[in-house]
Amino acid sequence: MATGGNNRKDKGMTTTITANSFKTSYLPTWCPGCGDFGIWMALKNALAELGIGPDDALLIYGIGCHGNMSAWMRSYGIVGLHGRTLPVAQGAKLANHTVPVIAIAGDGDCLGEGGNHFIHAAKRNPDITVLIHDNQVYGLTTGQASPTAKDKLKTKSTPDGVAEPAVNPLTLAIVSGATFVARGFAGDMPGLTNLISAAVKHKGFSVLDILQPCVTFNHVHTYQWYRSRLYQLDSVKYVPNNRLAAVEKALEWGDKIPLGVFYSENASTSEDREPALSSGSLVSQPLGISDLNTLLSEFR
Ligand code: SF4
Ligand code: MG
Repeated sequence: MATGGNNRKDKGMTTTITANSFKTSYLPTWCPGCGDFGIWMALKNALAELGIGPDDALLIYGIGCHGNMSAWMRSYGIVGLHGRTLPVAQGAKLANHTVPVIAIAGDGDCLGEGGNHFIHAAKRNPDITVLIHDNQVYGLTTGQASPTAKDKLKTKSTPDGVAEPAVNPLTLAIVSGATFVARGFAGDMPGLTNLISAAVKHKGFSVLDILQPCVTFNHVHTYQWYRSRLYQLDSVKYVPNNRLAAVEKALEWGDKIPLGVFYSENASTSEDREPALSSGSLVSQPLGISDLNTLLSEFR
């Protein structure tokens, strides 16, 4: 889906932001048919629709197939250590809370190695969006089961099928305090574009779990498997304003799998509650250090 772009005035010049504004000279190395393509396109479309250009936002990546997007997505960006996507995103947000920060994470990255960071970010409610590429495997390391692997998925690390229950990113986010929790599908470009746009616009910690077929290492949860089960929460007149009802809805997984916004509320963010930010972003304030050597001597 192409978008018509969005005009933005900056220093007297009018710039039109389109999905192509994020183009680099690198071509994706993802496997042909990977769900990452759909997420990448939907993200570019959503940013263009919001009038957010390559130099208007900061994208923080984790380690995984998703993280390779940093090479073919023109924007300010940081590739963090494995599992540390959210600490880096929160640090960047604290340094300059006027800039939209989008964390682009994998399911293993965000809910395995970074699980503790996920819970605490949800509890603090920083104004950050996290896009979880949920393919149920560690694709970059050739397909071991990730924390979200379900339906007794057989992988290299689970040859007899996953024996344990899966981590549910939605219920975890809802009970941990996230103020926007949604699920999208990499094969639904218009729907995913709208959800990314809504998540970025939301003021607070917005979690978007994106069902992403890994065509190479997950042969169960294919595009067809999802398409025969997915339905939109909007179609059943679901209202996303109750945490208990949201948890119940988020537990649905089987013949019917819901897509859309499960929970949304307005609440103060960690930036709202931080007194040091009341006089502007930290990067716009003087350091307040007159003698660096004296300060450093305190640590010797
Ligand atoms: Fe995509 Fe899976 Fe290939 Fe990684 S291994 S690029 S997730 S299809
Ligand atoms: Mg994964």
